[in-house]
Amino acid sequence: MYLLLGLVICAFIPAVLYCIPLDREVGVYMTSKDDVGQKDNELDIGYDRSKPNPEELGGYFEGDIVLPREMDRNGLTSSKYRWPNGVLPYVIKGNYTVNETEVIKKAVELYHKYTCLTFREKLPSDEDYFAIVSSDIGCWSNIGRQGGMQVVNLQAPDCVRKVGTAAHEFMHIAGFVHELSRYDRDEYVEINWDNVREDHKHNFKKQREGEINEYGVSYDYNSVMHYSRFAFTENKNVPSIIAKIHSKAKNMGQRLGFSIKDITEVNAMYNCSEKTQVAWDVYNERKPKVAADEYIFSE
Ligand SMILES: [Zn+2]
Repeated sequence: MYLLLGLVICAFIPAVLYCIPLDREVGVYMTSKDDVGQKDNELDIGYDRSKPNPEELGGYFEGDIVLPREMDRNGLTSSKYRWPNGVLPYVIKGNYTVNETEVIKKAVELYHKYTCLTFREKLPSDEDYFAIVSSDIGCWSNIGRQGGMQVVNLQAPDCVRKVGTAAHEFMHIAGFVHELSRYDRDEYVEINWDNVREDHKHNFKKQREGEINEYGVSYDYNSVMHYSRFAFTENKNVPSIIAKIHSKAKNMGQRLGFSIKDITEVNAMYNCSEKTQVAWDVYNERKPKVAADEYIFSE
């Protein structure tokens, strides 16, 4: 009981404590509002690669993650942060328009179609669940199940424009960190440290080998958990992240849906790898012109 209580409190304290000194961050977020959620670029994949994603403007650990103070990063590999039987009870408490609610529901549908996770309305008997709220401090989540009620913040309208933004936060709550946190990321991307805002350099910190489980999946530029080229930039016209394998990185920072590796990892974490076959069947049926590791499962 003590442990449970501790986690509940700690899940909330950071949100409160961090929000107060974060006025400056909130200001940054607000002034950058014009830069996010812009009309999709007709280029190729339906988003503007010259803009950061809204969660890449926040002031939490890795931009949009709230970690309880006592929880070290090993929590990511610990099964105590998993949702039992892959069931995630939730309640929508934010003020959303019909269209914005639809975006959230579509993200849920993606999980139901391609993974074995079940997002369902909270029942009175559910002790652990999350509330989706729309307060004005960005898009953020905890990593994994904390115990008791926890929050996924999806500020309206910026965080509920794209299905992938909600899908991204839901992957955090399922237990995943950013792709850029991988210990081997320097083989795949170069960080332009000179153009990373000083107060956000921590967002580019790597995990040590073994701290997170990659489930045998190789680095994924296509992941909904990858930052965009312009995440946390000082000069917003200059990238902070440069892909080393250009041919594979054209979707970097996409927030349209899952990559095949996202799906593989979620299903591996929750011990239902057979569900990944659904994605392969969809891919084979649609016969897209791109390789499977460049394809985005957006519906
Ligand atoms: Zn994130």
